[in-house]
Amino acid sequence: MASFRYKTFGYAAPSAGARLQPFSFERRALRPNDVAMEILYAGVCHSDLHWARNDWGWSNYPVVPGHEIVGRVIAVGPEVTRFKAGDHVAVGCMADSCQHCDQCRKGEEQLCREGNTMTYGGLDRITQEMTHGGYSKHVVVRQEFVLRVPDGLDLSRAAPLLCAGITTYSPLRTWGIGPGSRVGVIGLGGLGHMAVKLAAGLGAQVTVMSRTPDKKADALALGADRLLVSTDLDAMAQAANGFDLIIDTVPNKHDLNPYLPLLDVDGTLVIVGQVGPLDEMSSVPLLLGRRRVAGSPIGGIAQTQELLDFCARKNILPETETIRMDEINEAFERMERSDVRYRFVIDMASLTEPAEATL
Ligand SMILES: [Zn+2]
Ligand SMILES: [Zn+2]
Repeated sequence: MASFRYKTFGYAAPSAGARLQPFSFERRALRPNDVAMEILYAGVCHSDLHWARNDWGWSNYPVVPGHEIVGRVIAVGPEVTRFKAGDHVAVGCMADSCQHCDQCRKGEEQLCREGNTMTYGGLDRITQEMTHGGYSKHVVVRQEFVLRVPDGLDLSRAAPLLCAGITTYSPLRTWGIGPGSRVGVIGLGGLGHMAVKLAAGLGAQVTVMSRTPDKKADALALGADRLLVSTDLDAMAQAANGFDLIIDTVPNKHDLNPYLPLLDVDGTLVIVGQVGPLDEMSSVPLLLGRRRVAGSPIGGIAQTQELLDFCARKNILPETETIRMDEINEAFERMERSDVRYRFVIDMASLTEPAEATL
């Protein structure tokens, strides 16, 4: 059963400036510890757009994006013990890691000393083939990087937990957020809305920070206790020293200086959105308040499973808009205009086999 390669199909960006279009390709033959799954839903992350357009300068083409994957197991290799055909499963941003370094042994595969293998745009550790992501009908991943979707979690909405969810849950756990913690969230997009829901789910007091009061009703509806308008200098002064953790989800270059005085002693502002330069920062509020600025990527596999179980238990789900696969280019354009509340999810039932390979 394990000797053939899976013919599959999806959508790919053929080059940096091009629209995504139908693409036929193969998945690797099952290795003994591999799980093959049919993809049911794929979330649309900002990284997908950046990668498809080579915004970070690292992309290789064709790019099949997608690292928020929910599916159903269709076959397993002979050594797979954790999954069987029919199970509902998920795959996030990583598809492999070295499995033997200190970080991997601690369950922090995202910090693997040899670099983790990204679900798309990475290189398979054995064949050196480029990995392709979830904008496709099938995927093959080793069982150590496959997550179980708990019963009761809505499959059609769960996909964004695999990137937006774990990216915001991991810092909440790293900094020990729980009942009574004071958490700020800057930015109310795909990441920010999950940060609000998850922090509230952990029992924290949650404040959304925004330049205008426009998002107050949305913030409260998502579970925040209040909205702090960052351009209101009086309100900002009154909020000084009031936060244990601020999760900064803003995806572009911005100024941290207004937010640093909001942190209490030993408080941390953690950056999870912007990949690249920030505006110049003053060390004064850091020194005087023993405050910290940190970064955090996704979380490890065990923590991602913990997140899925937590969300099933608490009935926490991303706010999503379901689209068809052939609406992806329009979805990218809308995402660039921040015209999405709060995450697009592709229903893979809408993806049909192309008459001929177009790439
Ligand atoms: Zn992502
Ligand atoms: Zn490792």
